[in-house]
Amino acid sequence: MKKHTITALWNDIPDDADDLLVVRGGFRSYLCLCGKHLADRDAAELHAMETNQCTTCLGTATEQIVPNFSQRCTSCAGTGRRKAQLSWELAYAEAEAAITVDLVRSLITPLTGPFQLSQVADTVRAVLGLPVGRLPVGPRVRDVLRQLEAAGELVLVSAPDELLRGTTVVLYRDPYWQHASE
Ligand SMILES: [Zn+2]
Ligand SMILES: [Zn+2]
Repeated sequence: MKKHTITALWNDIPDDADDLLVVRGGFRSYLCLCGKHLADRDAAELHAMETNQCTTCLGTATEQIVPNFSQRCTSCAGTGRRKAQLSWELAYAEAEAAITVDLVRSLITPLTGPFQLSQVADTVRAVLGLPVGRLPVGPRVRDVLRQLEAAGELVLVSAPDELLRGTTVVLYRDPYWQHASE
């Protein structure tokens, strides 16, 4: 069987480049192991889909965010496979239905002072009786907390773990938030 792992070839990124565009697949073209050149992100994702590979990491199992930083692909649990990515998406949808914004809000309301993502995720698992690994609880809880942060209910109080592009593209592994009123 032919291998279709797709790697990114980075162009020069100007200092004033749109950070969102950099992170979302801009400023690069792609080359597949089968020899096919793929001009942009859309073409690369399409080829990944045709060859049953994860459309996030394009079969490489690592997600390259900026030229000097990549991490294990979470969309496909580091397998590079489309099937794993689709099951992750289903599991995420299940987590989304089970872990509502109201549930998370009710669990963090009594907390005074900063609380950590992993701590809230553990509480959610305990309340719903979910064993570790059953559903993507952490990613869902993170999304809910970010949503509450965007709505002004919470304030992120951690410093980023990685600065990927100055201070505009940063990475938080297990951040802390606190209620905005505190
Ligand atoms: Zn190919
Ligand atoms: Zn992947």
